[in-house]
Amino acid sequence: MDPRDLEALRSAIRCIPDYPKPGIMFRDITTLLGDATMFQLAVAELARPWREGDIGRVAGIEARGFILGGAVAHRVGAGFVPIRKKGKLPHQTVRVAYSLEYGLDEMEMHRDALVPGERVLLIDDLIATGGTAEAAVKLLRSLGAEILAACFVIDLPELGGARRLEDLGVTVRSLVAFQGH
Ligand code: AMP
Repeated sequence: MDPRDLEALRSAIRCIPDYPKPGIMFRDITTLLGDATMFQLAVAELARPWREGDIGRVAGIEARGFILGGAVAHRVGAGFVPIRKKGKLPHQTVRVAYSLEYGLDEMEMHRDALVPGERVLLIDDLIATGGTAEAAVKLLRSLGAEILAACFVIDLPELGGARRLEDLGVTVRSLVAFQGH
């Protein structure tokens, strides 16, 4: 990416200290999404490696992954599938548990969301420890997806999430990295 574009994207992300609790620097992308030029830039950059027909479906993780994933899917001519918190999807689902800082949570996809062997791009706004994305990878693979890449606007490399996904054999792409938590 052009270094000026990269800097513009980085500056469009609002950083809020001690949210949702002391010691966490929250990387707020609502400022990026609210700026038409920055939103277009982020989506164009996430979609850039792919041509129409390369990707069967884009899978987005609730909730910010829906906004980015929907736009990327539209751009690459792919379908969009949501990965949701448990209990939100109306049809038959597959489910996976994953650990949060305190306790466990579960995420779901519709059982018929993909055709086995389909090429899938996974999208979320940010990767930190990688626990959320790892659970999404497990769900997608349980349905037979071939995951071409997991894509994020923001990586927090010190938390090791990208490495964790690469250890699972998933290619990781992110646009902006921030130091710390
Ligand atoms: P993790 O499972 O640790 O990789 O956390 C990733 C998920 O938590 C993503 O869906 C992010 O939206 C959210 N998240 C984690 N850390 C932050 C942060 N510092 N700022 C904003 N969102 C975060």
